[in-house]
Amino acid sequence: MKKRAQGTRHKAQGKLFVISGPSGSGKTTLAEKILKRRSLKGRIEKSISLTTRPKRPIERNKKDYFFISGPEFQRLRKAKKVLEWTRYLGYYYGTPKEEIDRKLKQGKNVVFCVDLKGVRAFKRIYPRQAVAVFVLPPSLEELRRRIVSRHKGVDEAEAAKRLALAREELTAAKEFDYQLFNEHLEETAARLEEIILKEIKNR
Ligand code: 5GP
Repeated sequence: MKKRAQGTRHKAQGKLFVISGPSGSGKTTLAEKILKRRSLKGRIEKSISLTTRPKRPIERNKKDYFFISGPEFQRLRKAKKVLEWTRYLGYYYGTPKEEIDRKLKQGKNVVFCVDLKGVRAFKRIYPRQAVAVFVLPPSLEELRRRIVSRHKGVDEAEAAKRLALAREELTAAKEFDYQLFNEHLEETAARLEEIILKEIKNR
């Protein structure tokens, strides 16, 4: 067997910042903000998930999600092209595997926005690289206000289901490496930036 050159064996591996929190906690907006920070430019990329949920008017295909059909999702899952997946309010969501493998091989850091099942999967698959960050709303009342305003006049039944799920998700906060109360977006983004910079340095 060929011997590998010294030093190439332990190629630096990127970190996986797994951001979770109830619907309406602001985690997706935070992740978007982080990607634009000057200190992190070129050092961190966002994973774009697959989903079978319908696109919201403000969302863009292939930028916010890959919006795909149910059968297509199942085909990819069976072909082992989905690293982890979940079912949320009747729709499927999953992380595309090849893209993540490629980013990690290049030593890139990646940010993911996933539910609790996703956080647990990343912690299991990448115990040394996954950093779990929980984004909390300032209060349940504020969370209710944000969820209701997002779905107002569109699907109020879905808002009620999301709020019930959010209450459940809040009990899992202690499973995370970091917890952030998202009261003022800019301040929370600055704290998340500090966490990421610290974790990247420690790798
Ligand atoms: P939303 O419909 O609000 O965009 O997403 C619903 C939930 O699914 C959120 O908690 C979101 O973070 C989660 N989610 C989105 N993509 C994925 C994914 O690829 N894997 C997992 N496990 N959860 C995801």
